[in-house]
Amino acid sequence: MNTPQDEIVTAVSSDGFIRISAVSTRAIVERARQIHNTSPVVTAALGRTLSAVSMIGYGLKDPKASVTVRINGGGPAGTILAVSDSGGNVRGYAQNPQADVPARPDGKLDVGGVVGTDGMLTVIKDLNLREPYVGSTQLFSGEIAEDFTRYFAESEQTPSAVALGVLIDTDRTVRAAGGYILSLLPGAPEELLDTLEANIASTGPVSEILKEGTAADLIEAVLRGFQPKILERSPIEYRCYCSRNRVLSAMASIDEKELEDKGETVEITCQFCDEVYRVEPSEIEAFRRNTEASEASE
Ligand SMILES: [Zn+2]
Repeated sequence: MNTPQDEIVTAVSSDGFIRISAVSTRAIVERARQIHNTSPVVTAALGRTLSAVSMIGYGLKDPKASVTVRINGGGPAGTILAVSDSGGNVRGYAQNPQADVPARPDGKLDVGGVVGTDGMLTVIKDLNLREPYVGSTQLFSGEIAEDFTRYFAESEQTPSAVALGVLIDTDRTVRAAGGYILSLLPGAPEELLDTLEANIASTGPVSEILKEGTAADLIEAVLRGFQPKILERSPIEYRCYCSRNRVLSAMASIDEKELEDKGETVEITCQFCDEVYRVEPSEIEAFRRNTEASEASE
């Protein structure tokens, strides 16, 4: 099986009314599956969320900006959290990675069932300004793509169409993953909507296209007849930003007494990549002294 590099592609229709981003995320979702040992249905739920957050993150302008998506629908998977940097590189986890629910009557993975609908989809954009932008919407189906469509309509007042898909192989590995987010710019004519709806329907499940095709093929299918012009193509990957320094910084901010209660060496596991950091209390002490010294000299 050929496994091309995951990528994000952005394009615009020749009339300028439709903007679209598409991603292929097979390697990203497979990496998430390996890190967290997710069940197939949680792999699908997390994979769809990672694909969406990548496209939202890529649209952020500040290189230090990031976006976090939190989905807590009260289902067996628990909270699903995904983060993207402004390059579309993502990381994420599900609270209960091994959660499982029976397949739907049509044989498909019941993503809505494992996610649940009793809760919110929340998007937190850290634009590297004083306050983050936080928007949220009530979960609608728990199938994630529909929930994002609602989010864009309600919270960002942008009419859009979102499709996300993860295809799991019989050995539980990820065969294909990705999706697209398209948004309509103000003034788009009515006829355009009809053509677009017909295109979306005939494109079918995105994971079917991504089995053999690329994110650009997805755009060609959805914007058939609109002469899409590719704006950017960029590789994306599963990327965690944890480091020993970040762990020490977090530890140093915890109350000293609380740390003493934890005894000798403290073991911290990164939620996103499962990297384990073993930290000696003396190390935290030294970090704290260094920080205080540098703050005093400022
Ligand atoms: Zn990490």
